[in-house]
Amino acid sequence: MSHESHESQLPAVHELHVLDPATEEVVATVPAATAADVDAAVLRAGRAQLRWAALAPGDRARLLRRFAVVVDEHREELARLEVREAGHTVGNARWEAGNVRDLLDYAAGGVERLTGRQIPVPGGLDITLLEPLGVVGVIAPWNFPMPIAAWGTAPALAAGNSVVLKPAETTPLTALRLAELALEAGLPEHLLQVLPGAGPVAGNALVEHPGVAKIVFTGSTSVGKQVLAKGAALLKRVTLELGGKSPNIVFADADIEAAAAAAPMSFLDNSGQDCCARTRILVQRSVYERFLGLLAPAIESVVVGDPSDEATQMGPLISRAQLERVRSYVPAGLPGIRGKAPEGPGFWFPPTVLTDVEPHARVAVEEVFGPVAVVLPFEDEADAVRLANATDYGLAGSVWTRDVGRALRVSGAVRAGNLSVNSHSSVRYWTPFGGFKQSGIGRELGPDALTAFTETKNVFISTEGPAQ
Ligand code: NAD
Repeated sequence: MSHESHESQLPAVHELHVLDPATEEVVATVPAATAADVDAAVLRAGRAQLRWAALAPGDRARLLRRFAVVVDEHREELARLEVREAGHTVGNARWEAGNVRDLLDYAAGGVERLTGRQIPVPGGLDITLLEPLGVVGVIAPWNFPMPIAAWGTAPALAAGNSVVLKPAETTPLTALRLAELALEAGLPEHLLQVLPGAGPVAGNALVEHPGVAKIVFTGSTSVGKQVLAKGAALLKRVTLELGGKSPNIVFADADIEAAAAAAPMSFLDNSGQDCCARTRILVQRSVYERFLGLLAPAIESVVVGDPSDEATQMGPLISRAQLERVRSYVPAGLPGIRGKAPEGPGFWFPPTVLTDVEPHARVAVEEVFGPVAVVLPFEDEADAVRLANATDYGLAGSVWTRDVGRALRVSGAVRAGNLSVNSHSSVRYWTPFGGFKQSGIGRELGPDALTAFTETKNVFISTEGPAQ
């Protein structure tokens, strides 16, 4: 198939320069894949998939477990690479490399448990088979390059598929290293191929390729909509994990000290470049001033700086473009709480909480993807739910209260895929993750992760004997 007409309209990207976001130094330069490279990779992936699916389930599981062991042996190296290319704090980066290991282990446990059903029917036996889809395209973002690449890749491989992974332009290095480690662990050649490249070129080629059965996309809602529309031309299976603007709802009956202590890192982790970031802090009016009084010193004391330093809590933003984008949401002079950030080279923005913002202001409803939150007061439970749902997104949310009934009512009423009560935890590899509304389609992780990479086939076997 040819992508030439589409590609010729785009500026040619021959290589990607990977920058250290904390220093702006070039860390590496990698070749950028063209649509022709994607074609060739998909062809190789198709052949590899047939051989992979023909292996005994126990052998596939063993190879994935070995991959997990090799990742674990290289955890520190992978973490340091993530610090360099993405500016993640070293503590977070270690967790991320460990998350890849855990995902592979968990998925490996599913290979031999990926069972169909036997359904009672008259005149025969009816069984369902869960067959692999074929070649899966994973398009990963730059905010969590390693874990999100693995969220798609590990269950896809476990269910018998092969994977072509396109990492984000700014963060290809950990994905490339993971593909090398897969080979070292004994995974067959071409089962997991990594093709760094420009989104509109290599990413688009994967989406438009008839040989790719499913696209797992994580990134912006605008590109996600394009992926869905283009995939529709081939009725391609598509999972989308998109943006968020998640509420952190603090009721007057909550442990206010605990809620204020937890609020900063609920939106500052990964410098706010987290689709689950709790960037709309909704506080019941009767405790609003008290909450702000506790929040201010907590924000001001967040340690922002060199991400390779063990004491650092927040590093830089990923790129100059992202820094400009974040700045565009926070004109100088807006009232609020501001933390500290380094000066000089690097893409730094201080922790920021805006206090006098209209609920419908851009910064209150759009995803900033930076260390910026707004605080809005609410009157009662109904008002809190109305404000929480006043966004096109529906990815995550938190409810702080000591009233169990209220915790359950509000968790039920907020239209989002991942709620947490008296906590901000959203992501565990063994629980499902995904968005309502414009935050996405489909679910990743959790007990059903492998099933999302299969087609169900129903087979009826007649037990009727020959006519008497
Ligand atoms: P993006 O959506 O442009 O990029 C995500 C991935 O999609 C990258 O690998 C990119 O190369 C690829 N891509 C881009 N255009 C494509 C196309 N036409 N076809 C196929 N693939 C394509 O995101 P971004 O520009 O890196 O970030 C912009 C905004 O998106 C951020 O500010 C943030 O709001 C949001 N975002 C959200 C998440 C998330 O986890 N939900 C992750 C990254 C970015």
